[in-house]
Amino acid sequence: MRRAVLSWVAAALASGVSCAADAQLPALHEATAPPTSAANDGSHTIVLRAQSLIDGTGAPPRRDLDIVIRGNRIVEISATGSRPVPEGADVLDLGSLTVLPGLIDTHTHIFLQGEDPNAGGYDVQLLKFPASYRVARAIVSARRALEQGFTTIRDMETEGAGYGDVGIKQAINESVVPGPRMWVSTISISSTGGYPLEGYAPEITVPKGSQLIDGPVEARKAARQQLDHGADWIKVYMTHRSWLDVNGNLVSQPTLTLEELKAIVDETHGWGKKVACHAYNGAGLQRSLDGGCDSIEHGLELSDAQIAQMVKQGTWYVPTLQVYYTDWDPADTDAGKRDRKRAEIHGVSFTKALRAGVKIAFGTDVGGFGWSQPIAEEFLREVQLGMTPMQAIQSATSRAAELLGQRGLVGVIAPGAYADVIAVAGDPLADVGALKNVQFVLKDGVVFKKDGVVFKSAVGVGHAP
Ligand SMILES: [Zn+2]
Repeated sequence: MRRAVLSWVAAALASGVSCAADAQLPALHEATAPPTSAANDGSHTIVLRAQSLIDGTGAPPRRDLDIVIRGNRIVEISATGSRPVPEGADVLDLGSLTVLPGLIDTHTHIFLQGEDPNAGGYDVQLLKFPASYRVARAIVSARRALEQGFTTIRDMETEGAGYGDVGIKQAINESVVPGPRMWVSTISISSTGGYPLEGYAPEITVPKGSQLIDGPVEARKAARQQLDHGADWIKVYMTHRSWLDVNGNLVSQPTLTLEELKAIVDETHGWGKKVACHAYNGAGLQRSLDGGCDSIEHGLELSDAQIAQMVKQGTWYVPTLQVYYTDWDPADTDAGKRDRKRAEIHGVSFTKALRAGVKIAFGTDVGGFGWSQPIAEEFLREVQLGMTPMQAIQSATSRAAELLGQRGLVGVIAPGAYADVIAVAGDPLADVGALKNVQFVLKDGVVFKKDGVVFKSAVGVGHAP
């Protein structure tokens, strides 16, 4: 997708069907339980046999383990052969594959498809596509996430598709369609002049890809409306257009005032929910921090003072690196120069933030690029810019779970966690690119994908699915 498009694209708690808390749950001081699938009746036992396990916590890989899953929860992990296989259990031997927790992408857009500007780009979706068509494509996107091993996503607004994400989340939770656990942010909020559609005759009223507000009263009302209709997070655009000034520095247009943002944050926190702020740099990013945003999305240019403020406040950083390295305009154009500058300063900011101890969660902006491209490409960029492969894995597992307020429940393989497990060929600690080739996906205790995996039942302990 072109950067001109990306400038506005780059931009939970389950209230639907969720599992009743049970005695296995870790202390839930942070949040409501995540959405779970209705496909699992809670009675079946599976033993996943893993020769190599990376559990998501950052601990070194462990060898030769049996992961016992009852219903949709992991109940026990023990050395293979050290305990009898539970009666009636299916034993799925994952052989030499590396086993990991289901991955988490904390910045997705299932209602975007990496639109080709030559095919109408962003605008045609809002102007010409029936809502039903957009929903149909979003369902495929959700499935694509799961196929790639992403069993949880935080979807960062529907780009003109209203509350469509709320309905898709419900359909996934009720097992009407396959997909990841979703935290949704519905319509998002920006200011007048702060989001497309743009460039049309002023006499024509066109739809907008965000709810545009002016003033703290409207800001609070928009947050209330979105929360009332099912938003798990509120997404706010704190910068919009960006360009290079005469000295070649990136400048981004701030959108909401500090007072407007504070009204949204105050309201959202009152509902026990959080605010994600799209912010590139400059005044808009500073307002995001001063106004109490819980996560900074993109954060192309972070000053040392802003990094220190993020550390002090515990603000999350969801950099979405890879999307800024693709599809640049020609080098000799203004847009092309800006594209290159963005990627350059973004990498510097990421590395500095990492070294300073800013909390970083994996996010990709997928949808801003096509869902057919590997989401896991982001891991390679994280490692190139300074993360260890283990840190990169944590950013999409335990760290991302922490951002979502789901520590111990998703993004980890441990007793009490939901049974979201993937397996990949090769060793992602040696080559993080191995995460692009997910061969096995279990979500909520149900096998979704088992490409090339031959299950071997243990003698006398039932059948492999
Ligand atoms: Zn985005």
